Amino acid sequence: MSFYKQNRKEQNRFYDSKKWKRCREVYLSEHPLCERCLKAGRASTAEHVHHKIELTEENYKDPMIALNPEHLEALCFDCHQKEHHEGDEVGKDYYFDANGNLCSVLGLGIGGQKP
Ligand SMILES: [Zn+2]
Ligand SMILES: [Zn+2]
Repeated sequence: MSFYKQNRKEQNRFYDSKKWKRCREVYLSEHPLCERCLKAGRASTAEHVHHKIELTEENYKDPMIALNPEHLEALCFDCHQKEHHEGDEVGKDYYFDANGNLCSVLGLGIGGQKP
């Protein structure tokens, strides 16, 4: 079982928390349009608040990561699907480095931090 799937329950608890719901609401009210579509010159309603730093067991309780607008991105349904589809199979496309950090096999650190 992949790390991501194992921790789904814990993470769902986070997504259900009042803190996150409030944070998400505020972020969407400040970013009503999909940030990626906007860059491409399209205006799509943002429906999802995506964590640019993938939440893990270690960081999801850290408000500086999980609730930090700096690390959030407002996405429309399509862009969010694409984002997760491309990096979808966490077990296949990610591995843990020596420090236990989740890394992409593509050589990009989570959240755009270069290893
Ligand atoms: Zn979009
Ligand atoms: Zn997402």
